[in-house]
Amino acid sequence: MSWETISIKKVECPCGKGTIEQEIRGDDWNRIEVETPIINCTDCANKYDIESKYFYPKPKHDYTIYYCVDKNNKDEKIQLNL
Ligand SMILES: [Zn+2]
Repeated sequence: MSWETISIKKVECPCGKGTIEQEIRGDDWNRIEVETPIINCTDCANKYDIESKYFYPKPKHDYTIYYCVDKNNKDEKIQLNL
């Protein structure tokens, strides 16, 4: 029994020079695990932290929204289209 990568979501980073990637993994029992997005951009990795917010709006499906948060200005959040 092992975890395998099902898909990798990829969006452009805030500066546009790199990407932000998120790995979705699954196992033989159809369990799904969603990894925390990774910033593949030196500039943005230095500037931003990834923050997530979990929503559970019954009866709709639950979902998570991810943000890039400016390390020097926590009020500046950029929502990621993941
Ligand atoms: Zn960037």
